[in-house]
Amino acid sequence: METILLLINTEADGSLAKPAFEALGAAKALRAGLPEAKLAVGLVGQTVQSGADQIGACGADAFLGVAGADFASPRYASDAAAAEALVKAAQATLIIAPATARWNRVLPGVAQRLGGRADTHVTGLSAASGAITINRWYYRQRMEASLQRTHRPWFILLDPGSQSAWQGAAATASVRILPVTLSEACQRTTVVGVRELAADAQTIRPDADLLLVAGAGWTKKQADGQTHVKEAEELILGCLKLARASLGSSKSLVDLGGEGQAVLSFLTHLNQIGQTGSTPRHPKGLATCCHGEEPHTVGWRFINERRAISLDPNCGWARGKADVLYVADAFAVLARLNQLLAAAS
Ligand SMILES: Cc1cc2nc3c(=O)[nH]c(=O)nc-3n(C[C@H](O)[C@H](O)[C@H](O)COP(=O)(O)OP(=O)(O)OC[C@H]3O[C@@H](n4cnc5c(N)ncnc54)[C@H](O)[C@@H]3O)c2cc1C
Repeated sequence: METILLLINTEADGSLAKPAFEALGAAKALRAGLPEAKLAVGLVGQTVQSGADQIGACGADAFLGVAGADFASPRYASDAAAAEALVKAAQATLIIAPATARWNRVLPGVAQRLGGRADTHVTGLSAASGAITINRWYYRQRMEASLQRTHRPWFILLDPGSQSAWQGAAATASVRILPVTLSEACQRTTVVGVRELAADAQTIRPDADLLLVAGAGWTKKQADGQTHVKEAEELILGCLKLARASLGSSKSLVDLGGEGQAVLSFLTHLNQIGQTGSTPRHPKGLATCCHGEEPHTVGWRFINERRAISLDPNCGWARGKADVLYVADAFAVLARLNQLLAAAS
């Protein structure tokens, strides 16, 4: 019989973030497919009660917590100690956690301590006839594998955005708090503050419905023989704001900075989509001034509806990479699009 432990953390305000609800949705579906399996929820954070109450009606058999100032911020030593205590207390055979930076960093090490196995970046989880199967992608999202393991405990880290979030009413949860004492060595690292971009400078929005991709064409000479980088910046930022989109880029465009060419000031390598960039998950994507070469479009693997605007009717998007290709001047299209979006809002 399997005992599933959902391992999640509360945020600074004590609430749960979306990846926690998604991991809960997957853990519940897994339990439904495993006869007699038990489900425990393990929470880590400064305070855990209000987070537990948010999912109090999820039908878990037990709620466990490790709480206190020592567990507020991500830190390898304290998160690992908390996870270890929760897994032992729950006697868990399967540990499901969101594949966030916090848990991806820690849980493979905890699996090692407990003689278990860990799989990160899992995108699918199912149980049929008592056998659990996970799915994950390899070689930059080119190959998908289905894996099964008999070894326990098995730590499964689910990629945010790949699962349906659990939805249900809040209810008071009865949380058993576990005492976890940290040695001095486990407290050496302290988080002294968080530095983040101003809200309007934040162009990467994983929850946005639309991914707007900018390609190197925005900085190239246009029909009048001139570049129009300033105008390109205004059009792209305007569209991002009006459509509440997330900004992606081709590698060529973000590399231009290093080559001393005119660049879009708000782009960094974190915006890069593709083989050597990221593989985001948005329902829709719109590529602009981008050629749609394979190393770029491989990062569009999980974008459901793809459209592109390019002057080149023979670009990669026209060769099966996009659902719709507009062979048009992206400067003109975005200017009109922004007008329509502004009028609609
Ligand atoms: C090992 C390796 C890894 C790589 N990894 C990545 C990766 O992770 N991500 C990535 O993006 N690339 C990656 N690349 C590079 C990739 O192969 C392409 O070189 C890159 O994606 C091209 O970027 P681009 O389409 O923006 O630029 P370009 O190829 O220069 O294309 C610009 C496009 O803009 C169009 N255009 C110009 N003006 C306008 C206008 N006014 N309106 C509409 N269209 C216009 C042009 O017609 C052209 O199609 C990798 C390459 C290698 C070898």
